Amino acid sequence: MRLILLGPPGAGKGTQAQRLVQRHGIVQLSTGDMLRAAVAAQTPTGLIAKDIMASGGLVPDEVVVGIIADRIEQDDARNGFILDGFPRTVPQAEALDALLTEKKLKLDAVIELRVNESALLARVEKRVAEMLERGESVRADDTPEVLSKRLANYREQTEPLVHHYSDKRKLITIDGMMPIEEVTAEIERVLAAVTKADETARAARRKVASRRAASPSKKASKATKPARARKKAAASKPKRTVKKTTRKAAKKVAKKTVKKAAKKVSKSSRGGRKKAAKVAGNRGNRTLKATAKKGRKATKKVAKKASKAAKRLTKRR
Ligand code: ADP
Repeated sequence: MRLILLGPPGAGKGTQAQRLVQRHGIVQLSTGDMLRAAVAAQTPTGLIAKDIMASGGLVPDEVVVGIIADRIEQDDARNGFILDGFPRTVPQAEALDALLTEKKLKLDAVIELRVNESALLARVEKRVAEMLERGESVRADDTPEVLSKRLANYREQTEPLVHHYSDKRKLITIDGMMPIEEVTAEIERVLAAVTKADETARAARRKVASRRAASPSKKASKATKPARARKKAAASKPKRTVKKTTRKAAKKVAKKTVKKAAKKVSKSSRGGRKKAAKVAGNRGNRTLKATAKKGRKATKKVAKKASKAAKRLTKRR
């Protein structure tokens, strides 16, 4: 499983990440922790990050993207990971998208822990007190002044990621104001739903693939057709018989029309002949013959027209 935890400082990302690690056997990749380790070890990255972090600013995108690109390559991340504190800006999210696509890895969900800003200062103060109690050194950026800068950064730079991931239909927003146990339960509930939906989709894809593999080569083209196209093709089968019948009927009608039209024309030409004979009188046979010829021509013309119309009719059906 690959997850991102999104939320302002003090939202409870670290606490929930640890629980997810235990439950799902995946690693927590916290850029904050990694940068703090780099600062402590005084690595080149640590030297860049030290002052930026202490003042509540954001370490340059290329630095954190580089850290994450290396980290998700490592063996322990193969099973999955939770990104905590990364991505923190839109360019970081875009770089992560590209990285995951390149490595053919799928992001399962982005869990946003939503909290009231007014509750955050109290939470961070509590965290400081607990750290002091345990004898741990307190983070340089856990002061009220730096915290307000970190919050402002979150609002401006990180909150836009809510839209980035909701557009990708990956965002799950959880009320981070609930008690820790309830937040955990809610995260588990939504993750179970996401996993189930993925399994159903995967099973459906497997079914299609195995059906394709099982069908003989002759039917291969048929099997590769999407279900809707296959249904359509099947539905058109009985129609083909109907089509044949209609074609026959159309031919019949066309024949009849041609015959009728020819009869009508020959009748009129006969009438024409008679009329012509009457009118012609002395003019003799030549005019009569010419009128008869005209009549025959007209018959042919109408017959041709009727046959064309009949053809059109058959085609349309
Ligand atoms: P928070 O408790 O405020 O969420 P983190 O422990 O995640 O803080 O990070 C502490 C500091 O480390 C940040 O204020 C920032 O300076 C730096 N940092 C951590 N992750 C990133 C990141 N993805 N991009 C830039 N800077 C980061």
